[in-house]
Amino acid sequence: MRLLIILGLFVSLAAAETVPLRVVCTTTIISDIVKQVGGTRVQVVSLLKPGVDPHTFQPSPDDVSVIASARVVVVNGLGYEEWIEQLIKQAGMPRDRVVVATTGIEPMTAGAHRHDGHAHGSDQDPHAWHDAKNGMRYAANIRDALITADPAGEKDYSAWTELYQAQLRVMDAWIRKQVATIPPERRVLVTSHDALSYFARSYGLEVVPVEGIATGQEPNPARFSELIATLRKRGIPAVFVENSASPRTVERLGLEAGARLGGVLLADSLDTAGRLGDSYLGLFMHNTRVIVGALQ
Ligand SMILES: [Zn+2]
Repeated sequence: MRLLIILGLFVSLAAAETVPLRVVCTTTIISDIVKQVGGTRVQVVSLLKPGVDPHTFQPSPDDVSVIASARVVVVNGLGYEEWIEQLIKQAGMPRDRVVVATTGIEPMTAGAHRHDGHAHGSDQDPHAWHDAKNGMRYAANIRDALITADPAGEKDYSAWTELYQAQLRVMDAWIRKQVATIPPERRVLVTSHDALSYFARSYGLEVVPVEGIATGQEPNPARFSELIATLRKRGIPAVFVENSASPRTVERLGLEAGARLGGVLLADSLDTAGRLGDSYLGLFMHNTRVIVGALQ
């Protein structure tokens, strides 16, 4: 009997060691970075599902228990997830287990063209992941947090992060090379929701945001005519919609300005599983291919 109890104790100790670290993330993009950095040592849960608009996200009581089940919670920060504070409080999650993936990243300001009704809580532009160099910083911050929560995994987390950062460095150079094939006067991004400022700044494109189209909003008519004139004058061949925003206004703008619909860009979420953009690296490949293909 005593032997059985001792055996049982050994078995449960061994099991405890192999139980993966449960990490809950706000977005699909952060979830993928945690998977790359955490490998087989983590079990990752994303609160948002592919295609869900984080600006209109309404947490449910179930989300409180998902947060409560986490050893580590990873958020983007920069005012992106206003709804997370309430969840963390309700779940009784200690502050030191909540990791801000953008820590140490110099934020861009959200600019004067920021559309009304957009629910980001500050003047900082939170979409920092659209620059692959920032992605390397996300990975480093996540690595440090995983090591704190699971010190035995330090070697693994460090090795996986190094490999992943190398891939991001290659991606960064590849995007730059791709964008350089677009004629300079056409390196212009007209999109439904100005989520791609970091991408544009880093890879040499200009963003012309379409104002006033935060979910369900009608655009200001004067601004709309101005945009049509700009597009025609500069001969911009294509406009883009985003996977988590309404495409209506951009479609109408393109139609009236004689620009075609260049495709759907992945802005605030990864694509559904099995598609090119279903990973963070894939998001860069997808967006770069769509943009370069339409503007060349
Ligand atoms: Zn956004």
